[in-house]
Amino acid sequence: MMAQYSNLKTEAGDCLLFYRMGDFFELFFEDAKIAAGVLDIALTTRGEHAGEPVPMCGVPVHAAENYLARLIRAGCRVAIAEQVETPEEAKARAKREGTPSSKALVKRDIVRFVTAGTLTEEALLEPRRANMLAAVCDLRGTCGVAACDISTGAMQLEECEPQRLPAVLARIGASEIVVPEGWNDMPVDAVVRPRGDFSSDRGEAQLKKVHGVATLDGFAQFSRAMLAAAGGLVAYLEHAGRGDLPLLLPPTLRASGGHMAMDEATRASLEILASQQGGRSGSLIAAIDRCVTGAGARQLAEDLSAPLAERAQIEARLALVDYMLGDPLLRGDLRTILRSLPDIGRALGRLVAGRGSPRDLGQIRDGLGEARRLHELLKAKGERPALLDQLLPSLAGHGELTDLLSRALVPAPPTERQSGGYIAQGYDAALDELREVSGSARRAIAAMEARYRSETDTPSLKIKHNGVLGYFIEVPSKHADKLMDADSGFTHRQTMANAVRFNSLTLHEEASRIAEAGGHALAAEESHFEELVDRIAARREAIAATAAALARLDVAAGQAERASDGEWCRPRVSEEPMLAIEAGRHPVVEAALAANGERFVANDCSLSEKDRLWLVGGPNMGGKSTFLRQNALIVLMAQAGGFVPARSAHIGLVDQLFSRVGASDNLARGRSTFMVEMVETAAILSQASERSFVILDEVGRGTSTYDGLALAWAVAEAIHETNRSRCLFATHYHEMARLADSCDALSLHHVRAKEWKGDLVLLHELSEGAADRSYGLAVAKLAGVPAPVVKRARSVLDKLEKGRAETGGIAAGLGELPLFAAAMEAEEEECDTLREKLEGVDVDALSPREALDLLYELKREI
Ligand code: ADP
Repeated sequence: MMAQYSNLKTEAGDCLLFYRMGDFFELFFEDAKIAAGVLDIALTTRGEHAGEPVPMCGVPVHAAENYLARLIRAGCRVAIAEQVETPEEAKARAKREGTPSSKALVKRDIVRFVTAGTLTEEALLEPRRANMLAAVCDLRGTCGVAACDISTGAMQLEECEPQRLPAVLARIGASEIVVPEGWNDMPVDAVVRPRGDFSSDRGEAQLKKVHGVATLDGFAQFSRAMLAAAGGLVAYLEHAGRGDLPLLLPPTLRASGGHMAMDEATRASLEILASQQGGRSGSLIAAIDRCVTGAGARQLAEDLSAPLAERAQIEARLALVDYMLGDPLLRGDLRTILRSLPDIGRALGRLVAGRGSPRDLGQIRDGLGEARRLHELLKAKGERPALLDQLLPSLAGHGELTDLLSRALVPAPPTERQSGGYIAQGYDAALDELREVSGSARRAIAAMEARYRSETDTPSLKIKHNGVLGYFIEVPSKHADKLMDADSGFTHRQTMANAVRFNSLTLHEEASRIAEAGGHALAAEESHFEELVDRIAARREAIAATAAALARLDVAAGQAERASDGEWCRPRVSEEPMLAIEAGRHPVVEAALAANGERFVANDCSLSEKDRLWLVGGPNMGGKSTFLRQNALIVLMAQAGGFVPARSAHIGLVDQLFSRVGASDNLARGRSTFMVEMVETAAILSQASERSFVILDEVGRGTSTYDGLALAWAVAEAIHETNRSRCLFATHYHEMARLADSCDALSLHHVRAKEWKGDLVLLHELSEGAADRSYGLAVAKLAGVPAPVVKRARSVLDKLEKGRAETGGIAAGLGELPLFAAAMEAEEEECDTLREKLEGVDVDALSPREALDLLYELKREI
């Protein structure tokens, strides 16, 4: 057994090996220690290996799914080794091979790898979250990325420059990433696969084979890098399924310019799908999501992760939301129907992957039937927005399949296939007959019981059934003698403590009829099951399109519902680099305040080419971060095609959104936080364009006052002069107000605060002009710092302020500093005189002495 185990373990690689032994999956050695720790189950030992007891733990097969879910969530991957022959077959084989039958070991094979990215089981998936698997590779300086959600089969290919890969992966949010061997900069926990898997020719051939097409041109024009990544992805799926592929729909191409780009730091700081604490609660999606189906919630998450960058597409989504908002009755009916809808996309995924159940067939039947009802409901309405017209045809057209499934299946098919009972009466005459046979035999047995009772004069006689003996006759011990008689017609089978069990020829005959008919009936149901799955698989793309259309409708109706609850408005979208938000609110903060009965103060924001950088000052806790984020979120929500929390909003399309938070807010991240802040700031300065929107919150806070102010100053100037993006810049350095003197498209704003009877009142109201003071001590007092400490701080502050008055403060002289761009030019010019001089030198013509003099001269000039 050890030899078999270690062969399988080698094959399993770094996956935990679930080794099937009877009714248990057992784990050994290191695997056992890891699993016992994660699952909190007993770690025992079994036998010895190399003189040491072998650590072992096990989980019962019938409860394996639950344990698997916990292991996967803890980041483990699992290889399942099943017994692929029965003990009898093993004994027969041993006999043929001439080994003693006591040594016959049941053959085992890895039948499947269960990993975070390759799940289809309902119990292992979260209904409202997509489960993505991604494969990446590089080809001549470009990264190819293939991503799919195998629970629904959706697959997308794209490519990007290597430096943008982290942002792309952040958008996809894969639960598992596959990379080729030797990949630099490997994401943590990535799965490494042979380079040969990532070949573009192979990828192309595999996709053609999966979709039965001679060319992929009908889907889109994919680049070599994309196909290479697709090759890696399909090869990994094949590996995980041991040759069986899950549902894969035709790949779609994700063009790089079609979406608003956001990098990982931006996503994290805007808390789009998860809050900084990691959960869904407190995130943007939690504040928006009113979808009534899991598929709708997954579509909304995708919309928010990849907001659109094309006006026409955004308008199409907005028009659908508007339509639903304008017709509350229709919306209500639609949502009622959607609410009862099964997740047909995932049911389809399970069926095609070969892990489906009769219940999944029933879900497809019900889902497609309801889709048809929705089709009727929506078709009956007159004026329809274009997107709805586009979606409508996908909702219908499954009549033949739904009819078939309705005829074939019982109303509520079971989740288990083994015991049959899911094919409806009247669908197959032969099956009905088999059922009739076992039915009549059962009735015969019931009649037999009555007959035997009177014949033997034993009213307590019973005919029973169990898994070991099958049918048998049981009487209490004291009545057993009559039946023991040689010519009583009964044969003795078993004596229990208080009862004795018998058989009879007639019982045996009826029981055989039941068993035989039952076996045939099961086989007949099984073959119907397979045929129904084939029929569904043949229409996989049309069913997936229906699922997608239903999800889109749910998103639009949910957005409308949210908008009507919160008095949100339809944003106007245009191409100019501007932003005009009237009475904007932060959806998450507003909800949190409302929960405490507090009111959110709405604020305006208006950026234009002439006034594109707002410097926002004011006391801590005054609402600066909230203001910055609410505007970024409003842009994001608008471009995702939804309504926004504002009185009105006019959004000039944004190509890239950047959000950065000063270091001290990110202490939990472990790396030197100031370093992180600067790396992230560097990324903005190198990438943000005139069409981008940047929010910077307290940049430079993570270092000393002088360094911090200097950096914040230079960064604000660079964005103003070089990137020319729309930008909101929050800072507590009120010295920065002087930037307004030199930067003409920069204006000063602050969140208002008042001191009233010695206490600070934060008004959370944005106002024009620089903040007059920082109110730091007042905030400290508000926070409960003891009065003597605040008093002491006040006297230190007085001293400092006196010093500032005498010297002009730390920002003295900054007003005369040349602007960023001008300064850069001047510095470049200086470099250029050096360059010119060097270029003019004929090195071969110099004597050693002259060369040394020249070196001194150049050094002096620097
Ligand atoms: P700052 O960035 O200036 O330190 P925050 O934006 O973090 O301040 O806001 C601090 C708190 O003030 C928030 O948690 C929220 O409770 C409250 N707040 C912020 N903005 C508003 C607003 N517009 N209306 C009402 N309360 C607000």
